[in-house]
Amino acid sequence: MNEQLTDEERELAGMVREFAETVVAPQSYEADRTHTLSMDVVAAMGDLGLFGLPFPEEYGGQGGDYMALGIAIEALGRVDQSIAITLEAGVSLGAMPVFRFGTEQQKQELLPDLLAGNALAGFGLTEPEAGSDAGATRTTARLDGGEWVIDGSKQFITNSGTPITRFVTVTAVTGSSEGRKEISTIIVPNGTPGFTVEAAYDKVGWNASDTHPLTFTGARVPESNLLGERGSGFRNFLSILDEGRIAIAALSTGAAEGCLEAAVDYAKSRTIFGSALSTRQNAQFTLARMRARVHTARLAWHHAARLRDAGRPFAEQAAIAKLVAGEAAMDNARDATQIFGGNGFMNEFPVARHYRDSKILEIGEGTTEVQLLVIARALGLAG
Ligand SMILES: Cc1cc2nc3c(=O)[nH]c(=O)nc-3n(C[C@H](O)[C@H](O)[C@H](O)COP(=O)(O)OP(=O)(O)OC[C@H]3O[C@@H](n4cnc5c(N)ncnc54)[C@H](O)[C@@H]3O)c2cc1C
Repeated sequence: MNEQLTDEERELAGMVREFAETVVAPQSYEADRTHTLSMDVVAAMGDLGLFGLPFPEEYGGQGGDYMALGIAIEALGRVDQSIAITLEAGVSLGAMPVFRFGTEQQKQELLPDLLAGNALAGFGLTEPEAGSDAGATRTTARLDGGEWVIDGSKQFITNSGTPITRFVTVTAVTGSSEGRKEISTIIVPNGTPGFTVEAAYDKVGWNASDTHPLTFTGARVPESNLLGERGSGFRNFLSILDEGRIAIAALSTGAAEGCLEAAVDYAKSRTIFGSALSTRQNAQFTLARMRARVHTARLAWHHAARLRDAGRPFAEQAAIAKLVAGEAAMDNARDATQIFGGNGFMNEFPVARHYRDSKILEIGEGTTEVQLLVIARALGLAG
């Protein structure tokens, strides 16, 4: 199934798959029903070293790469997308910006706890008026007496309000040059006066993942909380999103596979008009298409991750992977639900949860249309 993996990667995949089945899956139904992120599961993922996978050992990481991270996220996404996105956002949106753009002091101070799973961080880019058009950021930060004073709001921010959330990194307009907005990224610790984590959203899916709107009203943080160079925020977060797309594609592949496996098992066990559903050609064709989607999605994210880990350009391949894998997850969730019939509409069956969860895979970290724009640009088609 994972033909292209090294022995070490295969071992990691097997280890996380077992963890997902024995530790994560038993709590998924209740966590989804009660909209609760299990901090025990987060701690267990920390103990396994999953939050440190793509980081060097000097900061408490596992010395792995993005491929390793994707393997873990795929294995989790197969059984529980909320847990998988908690890891994905914790690493690629929480810790990675600090690792990539932070000063040595910021890395030493912030990374060890994030990489151990003792703390989480959010990445606040999206605003009510700035989603796909992220450059339309309205949140501002101005310097006053050696402090940034931040005003504005963010929406849909993952991992921003858990009991162990330490900070969010936010994009903010810090000035302008030649008529263009200067956008920078700033670390805002939770508990900063003037920074409010609003009530969690009532979502369609990913119910056990933590998502909040954030407001900033004269929130003051030290000038040294600037992450990366002043004015580099837009460029930096675009590269963070490129990587994140690979991880979301891995999550989507896992979800698509979870749906396939459940549907195959169900079709074999369900008797319809005197014979197993799986003997009907219509069901077989549906399941065969689902298998083809899983295979294609996995090839796509593996390719993008390998390019990224080799230090080669990967933005177009990451967009292709996110596009193909996100659609595979949604299509497989819909087909699996159909194979399950009425049971597919019952939350006690994981395919029902995948059906609700998978839609966001075509929206978050760049919508399907945004991926198409990236691919069109790579074809030389200017907007
Ligand atoms: C559960 C969840 C978790 C999230 N986590 C985070 C997070 O941690 N941090 C964060 O910063 N954000 C987060 N987001 C935000 C997410 O990345 C955005 O919702 C997404 O980028 C889309 O932005 P939008 O919602 O403003 O939609 P819009 O940008 O308003 O898009 C609306 C529609 O217009 C389409 N569209 C937009 N531009 C074009 C174009 N040029 N051409 C054609 N069509 C276009 C879109 O594809 C979409 O179909 C999260 C969202 C959700 C729902």
